[in-house]
Amino acid sequence: MLMKTAREQIVSYGNRLIEDGLTVGTAGNISVYDPESGYMAISPSGIPYADTLPEDIVIMDLHGNILEGDRKPSSESALHSAFYLADIGAQAVVHAHSMYCTTLACMGEPLRSVHYAIAEAGTDILPLVPYHTFGTPELARAASEALKGGARGVILANHGMCASGSSLKSAYGLALTMEWCAEVQWRCMCAGKMNVLTKKEMDTALEHYKTYGQGKSDGSSVSGYNG
Ligand code: 13P
Ligand code: ZN
Repeated sequence: MLMKTAREQIVSYGNRLIEDGLTVGTAGNISVYDPESGYMAISPSGIPYADTLPEDIVIMDLHGNILEGDRKPSSESALHSAFYLADIGAQAVVHAHSMYCTTLACMGEPLRSVHYAIAEAGTDILPLVPYHTFGTPELARAASEALKGGARGVILANHGMCASGSSLKSAYGLALTMEWCAEVQWRCMCAGKMNVLTKKEMDTALEHYKTYGQGKSDGSSVSGYNG
C-alpha cells in the first residue's frame, strides 16, 4: 500500500475537521504530498469523514493520474496540485468550508492583516481567489495565480478556504489560525472599525515568526500557534 502513514493522517485530520467545526458533511478535502516520489495522497470524493478508511484514500500524481485506489478522488485534486506546483514548499493541503473564512469569501473579502497572527501564512494578506465552479481546472488555475505572491493559504470566493504547510500538522494549524483571524476580521467589520496593520508592521511580524517557539533558527521547523 503506497503512502500508508499519509493515508492514516488524512483519515485522522478529516475527523478533526468535523470535531473542530471547520467543516460540515462531506465538504472540504485533505491531501499530503511526497516530493521525492511526486505522489499525492488525497481524500475520496463525497465520503463522510467518519466513514473514510485508509484504503479509501487515493494516490495520484500532480497531473490527475490515479496510481493506487478504487475510490473516485476528491473533486478538488487539481486545486491541491496547484499548491504543490507553487513555490511555497507545500507538502500538505487542507481545504474547508469553515464558517468565518467562508463568510469573508462570500463578502468578496481577502483575509487582511487585522491581527498579526496571519503572518503564519507567510504574507501580509491571504488573497481572494476569484469565483469558479468547484472542482474545475479554472478554479485550480485561479488558485495558482493567487499563490504567486507566496501566501501559504487562500480564500476561495463564494466557496471556502485552503491552507498548506510543510506537514499536515502545520497545514491544519494554519487552517485553524486562518479561521480565528477571519472571525476577528468579520467581527471588526460588523463593528464598523478595522485597524489593518501596515506592510512594515507585518514585515517585522513575519521576521519574528521565523524564530518563534522552539524551532530551528532558520525557521524551517517553526509552526504557528495552532501548528
Ligand atoms: P469532494 O468531496 O469531492 O472532496 O468535494 C468537497 C468540496 O469541498 C468541493 O469543493
Ligand atoms: Zn469545497
